[in-house]
Amino acid sequence: MLPKISDTERIALQSGTVSLDSFFFKGERLSRSDLVRMVPLPQRSHSMDEQVESFCRSVDEEEIMSSGVLPNRLWKNLRQNKLLGMIIPKKYGGLELDHHEQSQIVQKISSASTTTGIVVMVPNSLGPAELLLKYGTEDQKNKYLPGLASADYIPCFGLTGPMSGSDAASMKDRGIVFQQADGSLGIRLTVEKRYITLAPIANLIGVAFILEDPEKLLKCGKTGITVALIPTVTAGEYHRPMDVPFPNGVIRWTNLEIPISSIIGGEERAGEGWRMLMECLAVGRAISLPACAVGNAKVASMYAGSYAVFRTQFRKMIGDMEGVQEKLALMASETIKITAMQHVTNSLLDHGHKPSVLSAIIKYESTERSRKVILAGMDVVAGAGICKGPRNLLANMYQGIPIGVTVEGSNTLTRSLIIFGQGLIRSHPYLQNMIDDLQTGRDYDFLRGVQRMVFNTVYNTLGSLWYQLYFYSDKDNALVNKFIHQFAVTTNLILLLGKQFKSNQILSGHMADIMGSLYILQGLEWWELQYPDRSHPALFRLARVEEIQRIHRAFQSIADNFPLLLPRLFLKMITANGFYTVPRIRTEDVTGASQSLTEDHGMRNVFSEDIFHSDRLQFFIKNHETIRNYHLQKLKHNGIEEDPELEKIILESITVDSYPSSSG
Ligand SMILES: Cc1cc2nc3c(=O)[nH]c(=O)nc-3n(C[C@H](O)[C@H](O)[C@H](O)COP(=O)(O)OP(=O)(O)OC[C@H]3O[C@@H](n4cnc5c(N)ncnc54)[C@H](O)[C@@H]3O)c2cc1C
Repeated sequence: MLPKISDTERIALQSGTVSLDSFFFKGERLSRSDLVRMVPLPQRSHSMDEQVESFCRSVDEEEIMSSGVLPNRLWKNLRQNKLLGMIIPKKYGGLELDHHEQSQIVQKISSASTTTGIVVMVPNSLGPAELLLKYGTEDQKNKYLPGLASADYIPCFGLTGPMSGSDAASMKDRGIVFQQADGSLGIRLTVEKRYITLAPIANLIGVAFILEDPEKLLKCGKTGITVALIPTVTAGEYHRPMDVPFPNGVIRWTNLEIPISSIIGGEERAGEGWRMLMECLAVGRAISLPACAVGNAKVASMYAGSYAVFRTQFRKMIGDMEGVQEKLALMASETIKITAMQHVTNSLLDHGHKPSVLSAIIKYESTERSRKVILAGMDVVAGAGICKGPRNLLANMYQGIPIGVTVEGSNTLTRSLIIFGQGLIRSHPYLQNMIDDLQTGRDYDFLRGVQRMVFNTVYNTLGSLWYQLYFYSDKDNALVNKFIHQFAVTTNLILLLGKQFKSNQILSGHMADIMGSLYILQGLEWWELQYPDRSHPALFRLARVEEIQRIHRAFQSIADNFPLLLPRLFLKMITANGFYTVPRIRTEDVTGASQSLTEDHGMRNVFSEDIFHSDRLQFFIKNHETIRNYHLQKLKHNGIEEDPELEKIILESITVDSYPSSSG
């Protein structure tokens, strides 16, 4: 009846902790006071502000893009400021930063340069340092962590191989245990990995492989996926990921002999590699890629918002044209959503949560939405986004979009398989216990679980119907309550599909969308409660309505296509709207939201926070208000005398880089 789950899938599904996601599965909505209590404002020490600002100032993305390498002075700066050792404790020479602090630093660096952002991200995310900290022996920690903190060791981590991408556990790489000449145990490693970030320059290589012990030499007797750390180098073979020139390449060894003590955590951790990797993923995935996504979205929004004020066509600022406003509104709305979600997630992480389901949600939602923001930004600045050069703030980010979408769990897989699949096992109030009861033959407990599940379904069905009938003054709020009840009922009905569920990825993808939107709605609510003076009515209304509509569409599609007839009819009944109509997006919401990027000082301050203000971006920010007023005056008093200084600024703002003819 239950879908068959392999051991590796089970470990992946069970890793990390449960957090706000568990409320969705219970059908409960957190009250405002509980939300604020459970998610306090994330704190920052700002201890590295000066160093990070000076590092970003020294980055010249154009130089990096054209030379294809990170210049030595940047490596020196990274080393001096220990920026590759943000997660390493001070006693090993690292910075030991909190998650929010780390996230805002990665965000700022990646907003200065995609290439550098990726280089900084990897050692501070899933990789040797995190694995060592969690599972390493004292010897290993003392041996490697100081060198990682000072960046004398450049790490990489190789999991992906040519035949094992998303299905990483199906790797072909083998490590055979053998007895060395001195009697100690060694591993003979044959490995082929690809796409590995930093591999071409790394000198401390983490690698996952399948450990085999044909001669039964291991004391612990455990084999299977194992992770080891090897202080060596690769042949330097590299890929060119979208021509963003961070080092990325291949690890290829045949019968490389390493001591058994290379296993992270020593011999007793043999065969535990998959669990170790999945546990680390629950935290790392929630920080770095979302930080890059938010950083990019903020830069794109600030730039496009200003460009829309500086640029006039048809004697009008393009930001005053409704077609452009739609794009700007999308940019502002998606950017504030992922920023709010990021602050909530960072706060949870800083309070000890390891929220595996929420980390999959934020990775997926932030990288998808950042991609939408950058694409919309490209439309707003049009030709100025296409012609490359130092003046173009979007093109390099645009080039890097597929990287965030693909790495640390490719988005299609994350949406269609992981988010709801993992949530079902991890966050459902009864399912995990019921599976355990079934497997251990505790029939009575299992039946009690079934009983609870039925009560839960009845309770949430009544809840959903109540919100159809009851006339509630805050309709949008009532609709969200109704959606949460509907989500819990739909989840329980999906369990009736049994084994069939695993192949219903469209259904699972819609459930993932609902979870993503519920998390975003919670993030927006939290933001308005925590930062009441940093919100914007039209922008927040638009953002909420977009998510409510997305949830509604997902439920409609589930109810229309549910594979079993009776549950389908049931779902149609409970997903009907009753007294409530799904809110519509009004033109004034779009116009108002777009103005959060073109007119609203407070919101522009939010969007420009914790990103690098390059000279170009600073030029736009500094002159924004003056040029807007100038254009408004020109519009009001047709024929106003032109101000040559301001016209010069406008000309510079819309100028793109051009280069001398190579033939000339
Ligand atoms: C620039 C870059 C840097 C990287 N850095 C590293 C690194 O440092 N270390 C490392 O180990 N790896 C790294 N990777 C590898 C990365 O994690 C993989 O590319 C990713 O896991 C996807 O694997 P794949 O590219 O082989 O795609 P495939 O697994 O072939 O997938 C192809 C498509 O099918 C979808 N898909 C696959 N299975 C399912 C499923 N069951 N259900 C639904 N959809 C599915 C995927 O989502 C994807 O859209 C990097 C990759 C890139 C491009």
